[in-house]
Amino acid sequence: MKIEPLKNWEADLKKPILIAGPCSAETEDQLLETSKRIKDVGIKIIRAGIWKPRTRPNNFEGIGEEALRWIQNVKKETGLKFAIEVATPKHVYEAIKHNVDMLWIGARSTTNPFTVQEIAEALRGADLPVMVKNPINPDLALWLGAIERISNVGITKIGAIHRGFSSFKQSKYRNLPMWQIPLELKRQFNSIPLICDPSHISGNRDYIFELSQNAMDLDYDGLIIETHRDPENAWSDAAQQITPEILGTMIKNLKFRKPTSKDRDFITVLGELREEIDQTDKELFEILAQRMSIVEKMGLYKKKNNVTVFQRKRWQEISESRNKWAKDLGLNPEFVWDLFKLIHDASIRRQEYIMNTPIDKIDESTK
Ligand code: PEP
Ligand code: MN
Repeated sequence: MKIEPLKNWEADLKKPILIAGPCSAETEDQLLETSKRIKDVGIKIIRAGIWKPRTRPNNFEGIGEEALRWIQNVKKETGLKFAIEVATPKHVYEAIKHNVDMLWIGARSTTNPFTVQEIAEALRGADLPVMVKNPINPDLALWLGAIERISNVGITKIGAIHRGFSSFKQSKYRNLPMWQIPLELKRQFNSIPLICDPSHISGNRDYIFELSQNAMDLDYDGLIIETHRDPENAWSDAAQQITPEILGTMIKNLKFRKPTSKDRDFITVLGELREEIDQTDKELFEILAQRMSIVEKMGLYKKKNNVTVFQRKRWQEISESRNKWAKDLGLNPEFVWDLFKLIHDASIRRQEYIMNTPIDKIDESTK
């Protein structure tokens, strides 16, 4: 797959790419004023929703084509570039006809390969950057598949936007970031620019800064941030938008870090710390193997005595003691409990296997 780095997307574009603008274009005046104020804080690419995919009908569903004419006017007046969401082939044709500079595919569209394929076909022969948002469900393959579909029609300027994943799990954010998913995407498609959308992750303007800093700390290539001249009265996503001026201050306060350093001391010290980590991880694995051997003995013993694998009372005791140990060791109990559930689940599965497999057929490699 051929994916071009940011610097090839257009002249003078470099990391971090910063995109800001309203969730939706509402009026020509709102779009113009918001764009000018964003330009004043040094941002050159404006985002604006034209067709809004809303969860339920009868909410504001975007202005549609008329707003594309506003975009053309604002572009003429300010020299800014524009990025919009496309969800159907018609959106693609209209966007290209009106000289929109960049497109993105929204999270709801990415979940549907039929939709992505139709959008891709409409893009055949075009030469503009297309960014693909993660699907709303935490499914990396679906995200990768959408990127491949766009690549297969000859688009080479492809970016990935991380906007978080919908979940039943309680969180302070509207969508869970699940950073490991976009980082795995980046590991597999090394050259793809990865852009964080803290607005749709958080759903709340109070968390935009911390999420943006997290993304910069993880070496993301850019940010896309919903910005509105009057956020509280925005027609969509009012709780998560910020003013252009707050955006400006935020960008000034963000720490942009370099991916590595050539400093000799840095290289030596980091090398030593990495050796320590390698050794510690090896010990952690050895302990896990030791634990699994005990689990096997328990499985055999329970099998002999015809006792169930799982005992509710014991599970309750485990939960209390592990929680206390985590706290005593200064570890985050939530993190330790998530990890422990994985370990416990593997133990249960191993014991079930042992209980239901004749002793001479037990396969060591399934541990
Ligand atoms: C948007 O960026 O306005 C949008 C609708 O986002 P998402 O597809 O991430 O929900
Ligand atoms: Mn929005």
